[in-house]
Amino acid sequence: MRGPVTAVDTPAGRGDSGRPAPSWLEVSDSHEATVGAMRVRRALPRRGRRTVGAWCFADHMGPADVTEDSGLDVGPHPHIGLQTVTWLVDGQVLHRDSLGSEQVIKPGQLNLMTSGHAVSHAEEATGHYRGTLEGIQMWIALPEATRHGAPAFEHHAELPRADLGGTALASTVLIGDFGDFGGLAGPARHDSPLVGVGLDLHAPATVPLRPDWEYALVVLRGAVAVHGQPPHPGRLGYPGRGSGELPLDVREPARVTLLGGEPFPEPVIMWWNFVGRTREEIDAAYASWSRRDDRFGRVRSRLPLIPVRAPHWQQAPGER
Ligand code: MN
Repeated sequence: MRGPVTAVDTPAGRGDSGRPAPSWLEVSDSHEATVGAMRVRRALPRRGRRTVGAWCFADHMGPADVTEDSGLDVGPHPHIGLQTVTWLVDGQVLHRDSLGSEQVIKPGQLNLMTSGHAVSHAEEATGHYRGTLEGIQMWIALPEATRHGAPAFEHHAELPRADLGGTALASTVLIGDFGDFGGLAGPARHDSPLVGVGLDLHAPATVPLRPDWEYALVVLRGAVAVHGQPPHPGRLGYPGRGSGELPLDVREPARVTLLGGEPFPEPVIMWWNFVGRTREEIDAAYASWSRRDDRFGRVRSRLPLIPVRAPHWQQAPGER
């Protein structure tokens, strides 16, 4: 997945105060973008909403028709300072990375790549799947304690599932701790207190929340409303903090991703595929990728490497 390259996605702004708003939902429009060969709706980061817990990026991709030979088609590209979380509603994607991982992901499974100091990867057609591709890719900002560490990759074919509201609501824990609510915790590595859950909603239901965490919803399919506000598919719904539950009014059976976590204590800088703390760190990562030095390793992919222009702060005003 490729991150923001323009100021549209990332400016600092108001709205990060995390004010309690138990009967209110902030809905922000997504930014339409093209990632590889697919159109995506970028729900996070938004103007004034740069992180939700440690979650710092969410792209709803597809639905799109793919073939055996053309799919997401994101060629090798680098990451620093984050984890990529890939979750599909439909279809298959082949992940390859500089650690040598080669892993097809299918709906209901989790691909989790931890970049640490540096990793590169590609997301390709599988060579055999033909049909619809739809999913969400999200990033988690790594905390200071682990963001300079070694890269790693995990695939989880099975994830914990629970019916929280009888037939109304089934949930799959992608990552983190949904634990006060049925003892559910995902097996995937996470370095700060957070949760990511896939919700299948068939009737109005109430999702339990931790009042001290912040949350966001991305609707992938169907129609739900919170306090009368419909976060349409691909948009970000932010219920804020301070509430112990989230009432979901289901108008059409829906697939929803719920993100949450302890408000991230460290201000992050995001540029392209890099999450850091200073421009100097971003500049160093950009320089390594540009000159193809050894930092990001090599990915065995048939797709071309993704080039990128220098960060805007390196460019003369006329070049921007
Ligand atoms: Mn990526």
